[in-house]
Amino acid sequence: MHCPFCAHPETKVIDSRLVAAGEQIRRRRACNACGERFTTFETAELVMPRIVKTDGTREPFNEDKLRSGIQRALEKRPVSVEAIEAALGRIKHRLRSTGERELDSRVVGECVMTELRQLDQVAYVRFASVYRSFQDLDEFRAEIERISDPECPADDHPQGHPYDA
Ligand SMILES: [Zn+2]
Repeated sequence: MHCPFCAHPETKVIDSRLVAAGEQIRRRRACNACGERFTTFETAELVMPRIVKTDGTREPFNEDKLRSGIQRALEKRPVSVEAIEAALGRIKHRLRSTGERELDSRVVGECVMTELRQLDQVAYVRFASVYRSFQDLDEFRAEIERISDPECPADDHPQGHPYDA
């Protein structure tokens, strides 16, 4: 990166170490031109993509809204709070791992359906029928047949990640 003192394009790293329990890298750098030293910190960007609604408007990802949608579908179903939270974690992980800054709300809906299908078939059907607002029974039946073919982005870590705990 450029030197913040003289804007020279070349600086060298003279020390780098893990900080914040390994979640950050701190680098000491020195400018090749003026010799000034400065520090940079590198962390993973864990910002959720913005959601593009069907009418084209954008809104920030809203975890509470997502949670209440899932809870509504799971009302009076035998699914634990822990299982719901784990599903939420996996959805967020998948949305983030797309690396996109913006995602269609449709993708979020597909991810929710993927999770609900695993958690509880009744909740899945509830959610899908509202979400897709099926016009008729044939369309609904076609959806039920389609459920083995999710559009939710693939998980980078099929072997499991922290949310599975
Ligand atoms: Zn410099």
